[in-house]
Amino acid sequence: MTELRGVGIGLGVAQGPVARMAAPSPAPEDTASTRTPDDELARVRSAVADVARELGERGEKAGGMAQEVLEAQAMMVEDPTLESEVATRVNAGKTAEFAVYDAFASFRDQLAAMGGYLGERAADLDDVAQRVIANLRGLPAPGVPDPGHPFVLVAKDLAPADTALLDLDKVLALVTTDGGPTSHTAILAREKSIVAVVGAAAAKDLTDGETVIVDAAKGVVTTSPTDDELRQAQHRADARAAAASAPLTPGALKDGTAVPLLANLGKPEGAAEAVALGAEGVGLFRTEFLFLSSSQAPTVAEQTTSYTQLLEAFPGKKVVVRALDAGADKPLAFLNDAHEDNPALGLRGLRALRASEDILREQLTALAEADAATDADLWVMAPMVSTVEETEYFVTLAKEYGIKTAGVMVEVPSSAIQAARILEIADFASIGTNDLTQYTLAADRLLGSVASYQDPWHPAVLHLIEMTAAGGKANSKPVGICGEAAADPLLAVVLVGLGATTLSMAPTALADVRASLLQYDLDDARRIASAALGADDAASARAAAQEAAAPVTA
Ligand code: PEP
Ligand code: MG
Repeated sequence: MTELRGVGIGLGVAQGPVARMAAPSPAPEDTASTRTPDDELARVRSAVADVARELGERGEKAGGMAQEVLEAQAMMVEDPTLESEVATRVNAGKTAEFAVYDAFASFRDQLAAMGGYLGERAADLDDVAQRVIANLRGLPAPGVPDPGHPFVLVAKDLAPADTALLDLDKVLALVTTDGGPTSHTAILAREKSIVAVVGAAAAKDLTDGETVIVDAAKGVVTTSPTDDELRQAQHRADARAAAASAPLTPGALKDGTAVPLLANLGKPEGAAEAVALGAEGVGLFRTEFLFLSSSQAPTVAEQTTSYTQLLEAFPGKKVVVRALDAGADKPLAFLNDAHEDNPALGLRGLRALRASEDILREQLTALAEADAATDADLWVMAPMVSTVEETEYFVTLAKEYGIKTAGVMVEVPSSAIQAARILEIADFASIGTNDLTQYTLAADRLLGSVASYQDPWHPAVLHLIEMTAAGGKANSKPVGICGEAAADPLLAVVLVGLGATTLSMAPTALADVRASLLQYDLDDARRIASAALGADDAASARAAAQEAAAPVTA
């Protein structure tokens, strides 16, 4: 048994035989052809015809958008300009393989230089060239394999065109050697809830047909698993399936302690799915996601429309909206377009809003208008609050606009340490564990080289969460969690044990967390949390919690 490490996407686990995506063939060498130009051209025409036909057939099979994409690719391969470019090279004595490679590459560069929509077609042209060259070499076309049974797809990374045709009934899991949590594969896996581990470099040595376990929750691919490991993985997969179809009860521990489960949303359109998955409200609405591509500040009217749409989806329910959080990973040109060497430590979050106070005032106006027009229970919070004074500033301003419940995000260690004082002023706090981890461990959350530090299981982060929750308790104010940590079923139990009063997460994580909470009493949660707190590092905290959480078998 060997474990290959990568970044897990989602929480699932799956097992099955590997089918590898054919690696792109190496570029043909520029050697002189031993055939006549006419023979080489005939080979090219036949290969092009085969590829165009095959793309057309696959398109017909796929239908819809995928058919359009593939038909466009088929037209590309038969483009007369390309044919004459290939002929020029063949007539100069080049092999068919090299002529195709070189002609397509020069056309590709022209397309890429145009940028925009046409620029994006460069990758499609690469795919087509690969197919023609593979045909000339008598090799199978690159792309998603079809071994005739369900399989674990192992690839370098998946191109959008590959994903368009992915048969989700056959693909049990995805494993890539390249790519990170924001790669196309990861996005697809999240969207379609496919079990995936990305960036597992050692997966390059996996062979077709070998059985592996893909554990997204741990970010591990296990090769040569034992029967026992296969059984355990199956048990977890079954438990997940059962959780997904369990009744949508309100979040609670086994002893009935209520832990409302809320949704993280970036667009009002996501509300319906969240409600369908049992979200009891919204714990984080990231308003900046509405305006990431805007160069101008949004108008009050535009904002009122969006916020009203969101609030209307949650009558009588709590909806926590975060004021615009600009900076670092979420640049908003109209709030801060200055170059900063360390944007994560720069004019971001509430600092940027204060520097453009009119924009903050407009947002509060729009929120108050949407609140007045709907029945949801609106809470508004400020991002990246790092001082008591900033808390006073935001809460006072929000109340000036009639916002009834105004709070702060605790994402910076200074706020966690001063939580008792901050929560005298704020109506509530919501802990953003993504940034809190980044700032506690001093590791840029966007930087791959320090990604191993970005682990909210780190006991230093857990201590800060405990401290914040204690600050809330001392003032009888709620302290929720809205970072990714809340979506980890076992960490969710730890967070409750540390004193968190609500958990907010991507709606697709709700079922797993709901099922996990129901397994433990409050005393258990506290005991598991204390085991994690006592560890030295993130890995041992996770292991200690797992051990403390394991059912006692006599
Ligand atoms: C966080 O930092 O944990 C958080 C919820 O905010 P964001 O991920 O949007 O920075
Ligand atoms: Mg944050």
